[in-house]
Amino acid sequence: MSDVATMPKAAPIDRMTVSIVDLPVVSKRSHGIGDVANTVRNAILRLETKDGLVGWGEASPWPVFTGSVEGTAAALDVYFRPVVLGQNPTHITRLMAAADAALVGHFEAKAALEMALYDLAGKAAGLPVAELLGGRCRDRIPLSISLANPDFTADLELAQRVYADGLRILKVKTGFADQAFDLKRLQGLRENLPEDVDIRVDYNQGLAPFDALRRLRDVEAFQPGFIEQPVPGKEWRVMADLTARLETPVLADESVFSPNDALRAVESSIANGFSIKVMKSGGMRRGQEVAAVAEAGSLSCYGGDMFETGLAHLAGTHMIAASPNISLGCEFYQAKYYLEQDLLADPFPIENGAVIVPETPGLGIDVDPARLKEFTIESRG
Ligand SMILES: [Mg+2]
Repeated sequence: MSDVATMPKAAPIDRMTVSIVDLPVVSKRSHGIGDVANTVRNAILRLETKDGLVGWGEASPWPVFTGSVEGTAAALDVYFRPVVLGQNPTHITRLMAAADAALVGHFEAKAALEMALYDLAGKAAGLPVAELLGGRCRDRIPLSISLANPDFTADLELAQRVYADGLRILKVKTGFADQAFDLKRLQGLRENLPEDVDIRVDYNQGLAPFDALRRLRDVEAFQPGFIEQPVPGKEWRVMADLTARLETPVLADESVFSPNDALRAVESSIANGFSIKVMKSGGMRRGQEVAAVAEAGSLSCYGGDMFETGLAHLAGTHMIAASPNISLGCEFYQAKYYLEQDLLADPFPIENGAVIVPETPGLGIDVDPARLKEFTIESRG
């Protein structure tokens, strides 16, 4: 008889709660595809096993980009509840395949489900999620903050404040007003910030294909680190043309969600890199698959996010920690700099301009139940 111990059986999942939260934000923001003001609405998933282990997940849909919080909560409550109840939480590949078979699309809901399962599996194994995703290749991820306030004076103050905090990457949301306003903002940032700041721009699809090249050539004078999604996501031919003709690297965000999108995007040369988000890909594993396809095509990747709390930031952090090709930093700043209050029990870990990858089991930090209750407007289960 072998003296090797058999794998301890994790207790089955026997409770699931879905909460819709309404979270106040500190300022209005504008983007090429729409504005955000006052609050954002996300769905928080809580799974509990029979022996009392708790796993947390978050879905952060944006109606103009990925989907609605109402559709997300229904996906979790109605379609994924029967998929996970009574099941072993460590059988993640099997459970995510069952979720895919139960409901098409709904990537944010699948991201939340996978997140909560990995949180449980990590806690059961005594390992951080990054270690379950292949093992970390980095402990710190350079942090970028996005500037999207229609009031540029406020954004310039924010840029100077985060520079003092150690951040050296800024992403300017362009294309929501006119070209003159964008050029004025880029000039203002270059004139008022030290030279070691990497200034990137993100149009969120805001330019018309007709004269995008000419406008972007003017923007290139300010030496942006990259230009993200200048034209609508479906304009692949224009993206390929801009990638070929501009000096600055072009990133695809709204054009690429899945590994399949990534494969076709590589074959069509529509970008020099991808923005990867767990909310777009439907989880950390699928995000890693996008990164792997990009690597095979000699593209680099960036860790993007939606309007997330620290919980979804943690999932993105573990994914990037275990993905060598997501090498262009991350934008997990919302919990600290954009939400009035985060939901995590301890602050999302940011230190001297970088996100610190947790070393504690699971995602690394739990949700604060009292704060969750305070911001919950609807709860199921
Ligand atoms: Mg983007």
